[in-house]
Amino acid sequence: PRRIAFELHSDHANAGRRIPLGLKSKRLRVLVTGGSGFVGSHLVDRLMARGDSVIVVDNFFTGRKENVLHHLRNPRFELIRHDVVEPVMLEVDQIYHLACPASPVHYKYNPVKTIISFFKDHKTNVVGTLNMLGLAKRINARFLLTSTSEVYGDPLEHPQVETYWGNVNPIGVRSCYDEGKRVAETLTMDYHRGLNIEVRIARIFNTYGPRMCLDDGRVVSNFVAQALRKEPMTIYGDGKQTRSFQYVSDLVEGLMRLMEGDHVGPFNLGNPGEFTMLELAKVVQDTIDPSAKIEFRPNTEDDPHQRKPDISKANELLGWQPVVPLQEGLPMMVSDFRQRIFGEHKESRS
Ligand code: NAD
Ligand code: UDP
Ligand code: UDP
Repeated sequence: PRRIAFELHSDHANAGRRIPLGLKSKRLRVLVTGGSGFVGSHLVDRLMARGDSVIVVDNFFTGRKENVLHHLRNPRFELIRHDVVEPVMLEVDQIYHLACPASPVHYKYNPVKTIISFFKDHKTNVVGTLNMLGLAKRINARFLLTSTSEVYGDPLEHPQVETYWGNVNPIGVRSCYDEGKRVAETLTMDYHRGLNIEVRIARIFNTYGPRMCLDDGRVVSNFVAQALRKEPMTIYGDGKQTRSFQYVSDLVEGLMRLMEGDHVGPFNLGNPGEFTMLELAKVVQDTIDPSAKIEFRPNTEDDPHQRKPDISKANELLGWQPVVPLQEGLPMMVSDFRQRIFGEHKESRS
C-alpha cells in the first residue's frame, strides 16, 4: 500500500500542519500505550521504520517484552513499564492509545480472576483513557483511540456502518469490554468538543497475525494453536456465527492513515471478508492440517451472531482498504505460532 506522503511537524506551534516528506526539520515523537502487545508492537515497527522516536508505555498485562526486543538498543526507542491507570508525564507529538486488557474470554474459567480482570478492563478503559486524554491536553498532542467493533454489540444492522449506535447489553458478561470502550469513545469526543483536543477514533474489527497471544481465547489463535498441537478445534455454539478477520499489517496501515489524516472518525477498520466459524476452521485445516478435528462446545453468553464492517468511510476519506485476504495472512501467523509453540529447533516439523 501507498505510504503516507506527509508527516506532522513535531514543533507544537506547527502541530497539525502538513509538511511534505523530506522538508520536515524533526522526526515525530510518538507514544504507543499497549505498545508491547500484539497490534501495538507491529505499529511500533512501522513507526520506528519511518524514523520516529517511539515511547512504549505498557504494564505487560498481556503484552510481552519479546515483541519489542529488537528495538531495545535503538536510541530512538524507549520502553516504560507503567499502568495507564496511573498518571504519567511525557512529551510527545502523537499518542496511539492501545492499552487495554485482552478479551475477557480468556478468564471465564476462573471466576475470581475474572472479577479482577473485569475490574481492570473498566479501570483501564475509563481511567486509563482519561489519563491519556489529560496528557494529550497538557502537551497538545494528537490522540488516537483504538476502540472496537464490540461497541456495536450483537448488531441488528448488517454490515455495521459507523452511524449505527449498536445493540449492547449493559449488564452482560461482555459489557466490561463493550461499555468500557463506549465510555472511552465518549471521553475522547468530550475532550475533543470541550477542550479542542485533536482526536481520532478507530473501531477495530477482529484482527489476527504474528505475535498474537497464544492463549487469550480468541478464535483465530485458538484454532491455529489447537491445529498445531493436534488438538481438536473448539467451535462455540453451532459455528454459524460470523466474523470478519483482518491481517495486522492492514490494520496498522489504517491506524497510521487515520492519525495523519484530517478526520476524527469513528472509522471502521476491518476486513469485510465474512466467515462463519465453521468456514474459518476449514481455512485453518487447509493451511495446517486437513485432518484437524473439530469439537463443539456450548457458546458463551451474549455472543454476537454476525459481524462485518462497512468500510466505505475509511476507503473514501483515508484511501484505505485491507489488501491481505485470510488465506494469505493465516500462513504468516501459523509460522510464528509454530515457532513459539515448538521452538526454533523443531521448525522443520512443518
Ligand atoms: P494485546 O492484549 O496484545 O495488547 C494490549 C496491550 O495493552 C498489552 O501489551 C497489555 O500489556 C497492555 N495493557 C493492558 N492494560 C494496560 C494498562 N492498564 N496499562 C498499560 N498497558 C496495559 O491486544 P491487541 O489485540 O494488541 O489490542 C490492542 C488494542 O486494539 C486494544 O485497545 C484492543 O481493545 C483493540 N482491539 C483489538 C482487536 C483485535 O482483534 N486484536 C479488535 C478490536 C480492538
Ligand atoms: N494526566 C496525566 N498526565 C498529564 C496530564 C494529565 O496522566 O500530563 C492525567 C491527570 O492525572 C488526570 C487526567 O489525566 O487524572 C485528566 O487530566 P485533566 O487535566 O484533563 O483533568 P483534571 O486533572 O483537571 O481533572
Ligand atoms: N469462538 C469459537 N471457538 C473458540 C473461540 C471463539 O468458536 O475457541 C467463537 C466465539 O464464540 C465467537 C467468535 O469465535 O463467536 C469470535 O470470538 P473471539 O473471542 O475471537 O472474538 P469476538 O467474540 O470478540 O469477536
